[in-house]
Amino acid sequence: MTQELRAAAKEYLVRYGGDSFENIFTHASGCTVRDDSGREILDFTSGQMCATIGHNHPAIIEAVRQCGERAYHMFSGMIPDVVAELGQTLAEDWLPGDLKKSLFINTGSESNEAALRMAKLYTGGFEVIAIGGSWHGVTGAASSVSYASDRRGYGPTIPGVFAIPEPYSYRPHIPGATDDESAMAALELGFKMFDMHSAGAPAAIIVEPIISAGGVIVPPQCYMEGLRKAADERGMLLIFDEAQTAFGRIGEKFGASHFGITPDIMSVSKSLGGGLPFAATITTEAIEQTVHERGFTYYTSHVSDPLPAAAGLAVLRTIVEDNLVERAHTVGNYLRGRLQGLMDKYEEIGDIRGLGLLLGVELVKDRQTKEAYHELGEITTKRCFELGLSMNIRRRKERGSVWRIAPPLTVTEAEIDRAIEILDQALKESLDKIAAKA
Ligand code: PMP
Repeated sequence: MTQELRAAAKEYLVRYGGDSFENIFTHASGCTVRDDSGREILDFTSGQMCATIGHNHPAIIEAVRQCGERAYHMFSGMIPDVVAELGQTLAEDWLPGDLKKSLFINTGSESNEAALRMAKLYTGGFEVIAIGGSWHGVTGAASSVSYASDRRGYGPTIPGVFAIPEPYSYRPHIPGATDDESAMAALELGFKMFDMHSAGAPAAIIVEPIISAGGVIVPPQCYMEGLRKAADERGMLLIFDEAQTAFGRIGEKFGASHFGITPDIMSVSKSLGGGLPFAATITTEAIEQTVHERGFTYYTSHVSDPLPAAAGLAVLRTIVEDNLVERAHTVGNYLRGRLQGLMDKYEEIGDIRGLGLLLGVELVKDRQTKEAYHELGEITTKRCFELGLSMNIRRRKERGSVWRIAPPLTVTEAEIDRAIEILDQALKESLDKIAAKA
């Protein structure tokens, strides 16, 4: 059966990019996934960064079961009780500043499509500034503001998008400058070019509070404040794409809370559904009112569906009940400390960065030159998988090789210890293998 399904996957499925495995997978629970050979593998990517409270958490299972008795789906014009409750919970218990109104949809890409539509309708403009290295999705407008995914071969992106350089402290644009100086220079130059380029119709700036797929880059505080100021000066709306940073992953409720900056629109996705496809585009009462008056439409088949909303409510309740925001902070420190131990041992670990349980580990051939070590990243990631640890390596020619390490917030110290043991062994064996080849 196993071989048959592996063959079927090869024969019948479209390959959609990224790293994929030979194995077929059958189960996911807590911090582990199981493959077709029955092998348990530690999942240090939380699935695709969605299983924040662990795979198949009992609270989600129960929410889905209850929907089976009540409703999975309804006419899009009917607001289900759980959707109203989720909107209220978010506004009253979670959202920063005057963010208050939510639109519930399904994927991260979609949440950014909706955010950009709102910003355009509100401002009357169409120009969007995005940050180098970002990933906001694969659909039309979302892919147009993404730079960590492939852009080549798909024809024109939407008009009006303008990229400015990301702040990358480990590889600063201005050698010798401090992190802040380099980041601010990137920002100032970026906006100077944008102002020159602008057709006079600015609409939005979109940014991930941690530029994750681009290498887990945490922008300096001054850069994020600079974006807020630049948006206000130009009458643009500031959009935070918190697909990866919302709901405790970084040891704070949101990236917005970490920086103490409230965006005009916030996109959340991945973690909200805890594994079910779910996303929200969230804005202020004033913006919602204005775009509504102008005929805002985002009417889809699955807008306001009860099934993912029930899962979302279960996720938020679990995060509060199990104190997972605080836990991401303390367990994140533990994981970071253990990774630091590996950095003391391996010269090839050039940098450890990130917040809470969203960490990046950059691999270099030489700490001085910081030359990216793609080969080591590739071999070690494969070896980790063989040894029972699934990790995500972000590899792009134009930037370094960076592991994105983001286990569920429920990960135990014992699971972290096991992962570090595997990583240690895999690094050692991979370096030996490379040395033997040389
Ligand atoms: N925004 C960010 C920051 C993301 O990381 C991703 C997915 N990697 C997306 C948006 C797109 O989300 P989805 O894949 O659910 O469309």
